[in-house]
Amino acid sequence: MIILVINCGSSSIKYQLLDMKSDDVYDLLAKGIVEKIGLPCGNITHKPTGKEKMEKEVRIEDHKVGMKLVLDALVDPVHGVLSSFDDIEAVGHRIVQGADFFSGSALVDEDVIAKIEICCDFAPLHNPAHLLGIRAVQHVLPSVPQVVTFDTAYHQTMPDYAYMYALPYEYYEKYRVRRYGAHGTSHQFVAYKGARFVGLDIDNSKIITCHIGNGSSISAIVNGKVVDTSMGFTPLEGMIMGTRCGNVDPNVVPYIMKKENLTPDQMTEIMNRKSGFLGLSGLSSDARDLDAAANAGNYRAKLVFKKLAYDIIKIVGSYIAVMDGVDAIFFTAGIGENNARLRRRVCENFSYMGLKFDFEANVTQGKDTLLSTPDSKVKVALITTDEELVIARDTMRLVSAVEE
Ligand code: ADP
Repeated sequence: MIILVINCGSSSIKYQLLDMKSDDVYDLLAKGIVEKIGLPCGNITHKPTGKEKMEKEVRIEDHKVGMKLVLDALVDPVHGVLSSFDDIEAVGHRIVQGADFFSGSALVDEDVIAKIEICCDFAPLHNPAHLLGIRAVQHVLPSVPQVVTFDTAYHQTMPDYAYMYALPYEYYEKYRVRRYGAHGTSHQFVAYKGARFVGLDIDNSKIITCHIGNGSSISAIVNGKVVDTSMGFTPLEGMIMGTRCGNVDPNVVPYIMKKENLTPDQMTEIMNRKSGFLGLSGLSSDARDLDAAANAGNYRAKLVFKKLAYDIIKIVGSYIAVMDGVDAIFFTAGIGENNARLRRRVCENFSYMGLKFDFEANVTQGKDTLLSTPDSKVKVALITTDEELVIARDTMRLVSAVEE
């Protein structure tokens, strides 16, 4: 089944075209990104497998125009990989927030769209853009079925005492204020793939997945089900991230707002886009830049990495307590897959519970690798994530079920 996987942002559309032969056998036909939608000059970068990359600068008024650009690239006589739009059998979308409406992926209909619309309140930067993407596909490919996969769905198994905040209960009832988590597709994929990789039975396992990228979250997973995760009502809660502050004493927020005379929107912007690695270092939100600065002796860049490791250790430690032990710890995403020093710093703190780290194996980057020694009580592994593959699998499953 040829499936177009879409991840729509407010000004961008990331896409992958996959030919799914089965859950595990597939070809990536093309991938790319449309950027700067709505700005005076946008661009598309299209990378077809086995063919030359295409880059084009063009004004892109809205998501419909952006989606048409993607489809045109896919059937382009030189850079294309399809002979016609009709070859696309289904479209799968990544959706950031599905709140407690969705505990799994869903076929798009008007009811599903209405629920995603309600969730816009909790993910104002993301969900409206996802809806634009769904509407744009309805416009350009009206007869193609669409499926939505939610970042929050996998976390719906959290118990009430883990997802509730100790705020007056009425805010939960009136406004659905509770913890939802994020990156669920990645945590699920990595937990299952990692369990297979290290030889654990997922139905009888205690796993901690560390998704450490630009956005970062950690999950505690018992027998394949999430019991806690570090992100909360929004992806701001938890550990330090590229531009997000993670946990702060909530009283800090009104204090700074009063001192600096800031509106709620301005403060939200600061906590989401100007904090984290960027805010603390004053240099960059990118771990590679900060690695270089830290190696050159920059105090604040070093502080970022110390805090990053410290936050991970605290959360992993608390999840070991919550689960009464751990069988495996998996590292994934841009930093988790590539930063050996960080993985070492974290794992060194768990020797007390019989984790024996394989320092030599740890030099690897970006490929599934066992990072614990054979006699280690806790398995550690680098497990690469692939959220698009999960979306494509779910899309294939739901669309095939309808067709049968
Ligand atoms: P996102 O949350 O946007 O998907 P990623 O998972 O791609 O982010 O992670 C981005 C982070 O990973 C950046 O801080 C980047 O510096 C880091 N990263 C990506 N590739 C490498 C690499 N090869 N070596 C070190 N760090 C890397």
